[in-house]
Amino acid sequence: MATFALISDLHSNLEALEAVFARIDQLGIRETNCLGDIVGYGAEPEACVRLVMERCSWSIMGNHDWGLFNALDHFNPLASDALLYTRKRLKPGLFRFGRRGMWDFLAALPDRMEAHGFLFFHGSPRDPIMEYVLKSDGFLEPEKMAEIFAKIDRPCFVGHTHWPGIHYQDLRFVAAEGECSSFDLNGEPAVVNVGSVGQPRDGDPRASFAVVTENKVEIHRVPYDFRGTQTKILAAGLHPVLAERLARGK
Ligand code: ZN
Repeated sequence: MATFALISDLHSNLEALEAVFARIDQLGIRETNCLGDIVGYGAEPEACVRLVMERCSWSIMGNHDWGLFNALDHFNPLASDALLYTRKRLKPGLFRFGRRGMWDFLAALPDRMEAHGFLFFHGSPRDPIMEYVLKSDGFLEPEKMAEIFAKIDRPCFVGHTHWPGIHYQDLRFVAAEGECSSFDLNGEPAVVNVGSVGQPRDGDPRASFAVVTENKVEIHRVPYDFRGTQTKILAAGLHPVLAERLARGK
């Protein structure tokens, strides 16, 4: 079986996305797939969507991608303001024919995928676009985790929380740490969170992505020029918190 890379939660952060693709190329990996949230929060949706369309074999829909086409009542003000900005940037219109391809691509993203013997969702197997599988759920919500594990018969991959690591069926969560952490996959059900390319929230500001083989997943972290991203976010008039948090990875 081929080795492939998984990216998720890019959030219109072009510097982070380019750094991740550069590392994927260095590693000689030929297939990359995307678990959603290509847009939202960041300043450069067009460039990020274009890169994903060029470089990913397939992508699935995240809640921010979904938010482009639906009411924004689910989203906090930071997220919904950034989505209004993103809609303005991406929505096709008179004199804006070039955006039609990107808009249609995002609108048609599927809410789940099955490939290479694995399952893929943005959020969770139970509610693929919206539900968070939190690192604390094994302790605090064992019944929720039992229901989630009842939906899967093999390892699955998610994003959404921006916190990389692996949930085992015995309710343990093991966080990914350092530049590269490796977890064995033996075909048993597990929920692997690949972390976020464009807005990490585990205290490590480096972009996160996963490399998957038949029996193993590695979570890689890549430094990128977050100051450049911060400058663009501020220049776009997006909320300063969205820039500031990139330095802390929170
Ligand atoms: Zn996200």
